Amino acid sequence: MQSVHILSLGCPKNTTSSFRLEKALSELNIKIVDDPVKAQAIIVNTCGFIDSAKEESINCLFEVSALKQDNPELKVIAIGCLVERYKDILSKDLPEVDIFLNYDNMNEMPKVLGVKGELNLGLQAAGKGASSYLEISEGCSHGCSYCAIPAIKGPFSSRAKREVLDEATYLVANGCKEIVIVGQDTGSYGSEIDSETNLAKLLYDIGDKTDVRWMRLLYLQPQHATKELIATIRDSEKICPYLDIPFQHASPGIMRAMKRWGEGRRYLEMIEELRAAIPEISLRTSIMVGFPGETDEDILYLSSFLQSAALDYVGVFEFSAEDGTPAASLADQISSETKRERAGQIRALIDDVSKKRHERFIGEDLEVLVEFCDQDLAFGRSRHQAPEIDGEVVFEQGNVKPGEIVEVKIKSYEDYDFKGKLVKCLT
Ligand code: SF4
Repeated sequence: MQSVHILSLGCPKNTTSSFRLEKALSELNIKIVDDPVKAQAIIVNTCGFIDSAKEESINCLFEVSALKQDNPELKVIAIGCLVERYKDILSKDLPEVDIFLNYDNMNEMPKVLGVKGELNLGLQAAGKGASSYLEISEGCSHGCSYCAIPAIKGPFSSRAKREVLDEATYLVANGCKEIVIVGQDTGSYGSEIDSETNLAKLLYDIGDKTDVRWMRLLYLQPQHATKELIATIRDSEKICPYLDIPFQHASPGIMRAMKRWGEGRRYLEMIEELRAAIPEISLRTSIMVGFPGETDEDILYLSSFLQSAALDYVGVFEFSAEDGTPAASLADQISSETKRERAGQIRALIDDVSKKRHERFIGEDLEVLVEFCDQDLAFGRSRHQAPEIDGEVVFEQGNVKPGEIVEVKIKSYEDYDFKGKLVKCLT
């Protein structure tokens, strides 16, 4: 039997595609192994979104290929966004990698691995542990001037509602307590299907038709925070009071150049509306500094916006000129040094703001999904913390098990993590 190790880089959408691939390969009688040293083939699901992700993917391919020194029969297979963008260049420059498969060639995978049968990537695949990502759409049609995703993934398309609901049911039946809704542009869900299908109704239906305990929504573009969606989140006990809304900047001139909807003033109104409807809501955003032409005044505007917005989590990225995007050929590119300085300046500001936001939970009892336990301690997340990107809640474990939902009294906060004391088990 062939044994394969899969390495997934990049965003949660890559994680879900790796889980599907894992399931599809298992159906072909291929053994999935956790230890790369024990594998006959290693598949690297790469990310090619920005420079740092490309670098990470290429380094990973080099590291994995180095295992051939001890295992000359090892096959290294690269798939994913980086391959989609640069297959021809990579094939020439990385001869240590045996094969590069882009999305259209994935059906060649069984042959590459020397097994018979067809690869069925439409299978439902539960994530590992009690939390799973559920992908509701592919691609994006927004055309932000700096973004390569529409070119890599194609235009926006929603997954059929029946398929999404079936997958949610499957996940819950396989022990999933938290479904994390992902897609490049979740808020557009249903927009190309009909006027009756939208994200708010989909969330309602997942909550209504499954026994899932928590649902969490990521990647909501600001223009899609509709009244209907806000009311659905407010009225559902299952949907976590948490939203990830990528603003990217706030200064009106930069927003226009980015070809994105809205600007700081409009975003502040939206945040006010969200907090009025759902007072306990936690908000995450991503901010990009160093877009071509960005001035010190733009950074001042952005800083003032972030002070006023007082968001819970802010991911700060430096602009990266991506091949084929309009922003890559704009004049007034910002030097790496200035980008780094500006990112540091914004990070210092948000660490302070975020600390104050998090301290509101000290003394509160929060629901926590337990993810890992060692001999003494349990580690989990509250409804205000998304997997992988936000912090965790740590407490003395008292016989709880991963996958349980418990109540924890929050005692202290440091560097995005909480320490607490177990109050009671809820499951
Ligand atoms: S909405 Fe997101 S994925 Fe779509 S083009 Fe803009 S940045 Fe890219």
